[in-house]
Amino acid sequence: MKAGLYVHFPFCAAKCPYCHFYSVPWSAGGARLWREGLEREAAAAAAEGLRFDTLYLGGGTPSLLEPGELAAVVGGLQERLDLDPVELTVEVNPSGGRTGFLQGWRDAGVTRLSVGVQSFDDGVLKTLGRDYAAAEALRFCRAAREAGFDALALDLMIGVPGETPLAVERTLAPLLELDPDHVSVYFLESLEGLPFAEVLERRPVDEDAAVDNFARAAGALAEAGLPRYEISNFARRGKECRHNLKYWRYEPFLGLGPSASSHVGRRRWTNRPAIEEWAEGVRTQGSARADTVELDDRTLAREALVFGLRLVEGVDRASLLERTGADAFALYAGEIEELTAEGLLARAGDRLWMPPDKLLVSNAILSRFL
Ligand code: SF4
Repeated sequence: MKAGLYVHFPFCAAKCPYCHFYSVPWSAGGARLWREGLEREAAAAAAEGLRFDTLYLGGGTPSLLEPGELAAVVGGLQERLDLDPVELTVEVNPSGGRTGFLQGWRDAGVTRLSVGVQSFDDGVLKTLGRDYAAAEALRFCRAAREAGFDALALDLMIGVPGETPLAVERTLAPLLELDPDHVSVYFLESLEGLPFAEVLERRPVDEDAAVDNFARAAGALAEAGLPRYEISNFARRGKECRHNLKYWRYEPFLGLGPSASSHVGRRRWTNRPAIEEWAEGVRTQGSARADTVELDDRTLAREALVFGLRLVEGVDRASLLERTGADAFALYAGEIEELTAEGLLARAGDRLWMPPDKLLVSNAILSRFL
């Protein structure tokens, strides 16, 4: 089974107040440290013996990389790892007018852009502290289409203070006009300890209205031919994100760079987040793993169930057994029986899934697998 390769680019031009991903301000010295560390880490990780068919360059803001730099990063990885990506995604921040990079990124092998649009409503963008206007994001997406990126994935944020149904409409109309083949719709959440938590305290979100807005977006996307395939993700048939499917299907993935996580066989680990500590770790030991956990059968089974049930397709007993070596349906027979009796999961033979109308309360359902 081929694995997925995730590379964390830990720099942003500015920090968004709601963001919990690890990033620091971009600097030429920092970028050099990252490049050198990445090559060392990739060389050492070759010992895992994995073959990769997807590469996901996330962050941070990897769209700060000029085409030549991006090509050098990909080439450096290919020299050290068995990497032949059928899908190469780069996360893009639409600010900064990087339309001039588009053709070069394509030439460097990028097949898919994941654009963190968040909204096409200027009021929502301002509340989120994003540093671009809706028109700029729209211009970037159109230019990406013109440059031949037919795999265009857009991220939207729902549940922003002051969000109205009209603001959601103002986002959906241009979004559908762009004809993306993949859209992720996230609720604004997990804000503890972040500057945006203060904004939420002053301007609390009406959760019922946010759920209605999510349903409005989901309905419009389904009608436009992008059915939901995961709790937060919508795509045309065959255009689902192959890399992210590996996470949900519990297939192996390797993460390189500060704060990146990996799951290989029975082991799971996360890299140290601070770039200096990560760079020092890979310089002296070839890796900078903060922790490595050896997963027992029950944990493997639970994680495979919990990730797999995020997918509309659900999980299949034999596939889980093949991927984990553990019989999740037997280990969690009691929980599965209870949840299906309560109508929170559905089961047909050896297939288990979450009914579509329960996806919005998935956290409560999945937390029952302890
Ligand atoms: S640009 Fe993206 S990764 Fe960087 S701070 Fe903003 S949300 Fe986080």
